[in-house]
Amino acid sequence: MVCLICRKHGGEGPLVGPRVWHDDLVVVTHHPAGFPGHLLVDSRRHAPELADLASRLTEHFR
Ligand SMILES: [Zn+2]
Repeated sequence: MVCLICRKHGGEGPLVGPRVWHDDLVVVTHHPAGFPGHLLVDSRRHAPELADLASRLTEHFR
């Protein structure tokens, strides 16, 4: 089973929204349900738990 965020990064599923910004670690999109000003910041790498994110990425989110 593929998670919702990985499906989103593949352009599928209910969370796909307009891309605002990206780099090699994260993707930022508008919320697909149309909440103005609500952005989703996703890791490009699958991470089921916050503890699974590499320290480089957790520093990136700060
Ligand atoms: Zn995933």
